[in-house]
Amino acid sequence: MMVEERREKMREKQRNAMNGLKPIAATKDWKLLYFQHGRPGLEEGRPHKGLCKYCEIQDICSIVKPKTGIWRCEYYQAKVRKKTSLYENVIKQLEKAEEVVHFDKDICEILTGTMNELVVHFPVKMENGKIRMLTGYRVQHNNALGPFKGGLRFHPMVDIEEIRALATLMTWKTALVKIPFGGAKGGIQLDPADFTPEELERITRRFTYALGNNIGPEYDIPAPDVNTNPQIMAWMLDTFMSTMTPTERNRCIHVVTGKPLEAGGSQGRNKATGQGIVFLIEKWARDHGLNLKGASYIVQGFGNVGSWAARLMKQHGARLIAVEDVSGAIYKKEGIDPDDLAEYVKEHRGAVLGYPQVDSINHERFFSTKADIFIPAALENQITADTAEILNVRLVAEGANGPTEPEGDKALQRRNIDVIPDILCNAGGVIVSYFEWLQNKRSEFWEEEEIDQKLKKIIISAYERVRAAAEKHKVDMRTAAQIVAISRLEMVYKERGIFP
Ligand code: NAD
Repeated sequence: MMVEERREKMREKQRNAMNGLKPIAATKDWKLLYFQHGRPGLEEGRPHKGLCKYCEIQDICSIVKPKTGIWRCEYYQAKVRKKTSLYENVIKQLEKAEEVVHFDKDICEILTGTMNELVVHFPVKMENGKIRMLTGYRVQHNNALGPFKGGLRFHPMVDIEEIRALATLMTWKTALVKIPFGGAKGGIQLDPADFTPEELERITRRFTYALGNNIGPEYDIPAPDVNTNPQIMAWMLDTFMSTMTPTERNRCIHVVTGKPLEAGGSQGRNKATGQGIVFLIEKWARDHGLNLKGASYIVQGFGNVGSWAARLMKQHGARLIAVEDVSGAIYKKEGIDPDDLAEYVKEHRGAVLGYPQVDSINHERFFSTKADIFIPAALENQITADTAEILNVRLVAEGANGPTEPEGDKALQRRNIDVIPDILCNAGGVIVSYFEWLQNKRSEFWEEEEIDQKLKKIIISAYERVRAAAEKHKVDMRTAAQIVAISRLEMVYKERGIFP
């Protein structure tokens, strides 16, 4: 049976099954998400039949996580992943830039592959005394410009292909903003909600130990990404240091960045990605005659990147009118206070749904909300051919890595929606990571003001380079960013040659 036929059959089944069903108000946060389906209520932690807001197919299993209250739809995620591979998208973007400037074929050959790919399976003792085997990845894409650099992600959908794509994007990003790093990425396939903080600490330490000398302060430097944070970086650092000889220990504090301040972190690192996004939005707004005071914006993902971008937009007087995260989406025409929402999210297991005095809206309504700016700051492949058609904004400022599929990109261009592409827009994080790395190497401590100034200078000059390339080659900003980044790598390879 064809996929579309099967989907229609399921929808039909859903329509029939929905007749006469009432929403369950089983938990205060999640009412309306699930519909009673022949059971007295939600079965905590077990596969549960119910209407999923994403796939909207009645009898596909959704899972409620009682510890976090966060639910997810395995079917939807599998569907999205199957439909488009981030790695294929990354390569397609490279090919698009290649068509315009005809990079050296040999250099493209080097850059379309990765240098090292490490998969480690490691045992971790759980609270109940049982051992669980976990799988972690570290992909080192390229180090022509400096040590490998890139985040570490904890997510159930992490796999080698996703990490490969994200590592490749890191190489483009560091080349584009001209910092002396290459590109890498890591991840562990897990849902943090399944583990206690003590288990997460053991997982992090065991993974770091398994990586061994495949990371290092002058070789490969991890940082936080989705579901990882300064605490996890501190555990990585401590584990790495503990494997060194006593005389070496204090020479490797820069093996990770994004550490807590007291553990060798930098001022301004936590907000850095959001800060970089807002510097760029400010610049774009000035160039396009948009007054940010009173301008409206919507944000997808309210974690590190999304919440900081939202809070910094507030300082310009902009109005946050809709937010979507993994728990659902909320809307308020008059505006949502991002500082207050950030406090709420901290106290409510990271979820925006349930925030008082706002409307709860669905995925489609979130995407069609009329606003000036959209900041995607969640996962990849969110702006698809379908969602790009309903977006009602002037600018997409890509906080997330790979949020736009190639078909979505085409639709944005056709609809004259401007894009500040991911490798430029979210580079603030790696730029301030570079500052942290430098401070650690020199035993210096820079003030936040100094960091913000330096960040602004680097990211705005990268924006100017991209805009100049876009005008010169008459291409969109994403292709232009790609051209600038690859041209730099190409030049370095040509100057140095290939050993032997
Ligand atoms: P995070 O874990 O702090 O936050 C992720 C957010 O995305 C959460 O609010 C979560 O609820 C939401 N989310 C997850 N799945 C979702 C879904 N299916 N629909 C809607 N929302 C969903 O992660 P982060 O560090 O803020 O990273 C977000 C994005 O920014 C990622 O693409 C990451 O690679 C990218 N990025 C992060 C940094 C950084 O410094 N942390 C730097 C550059 C780029």
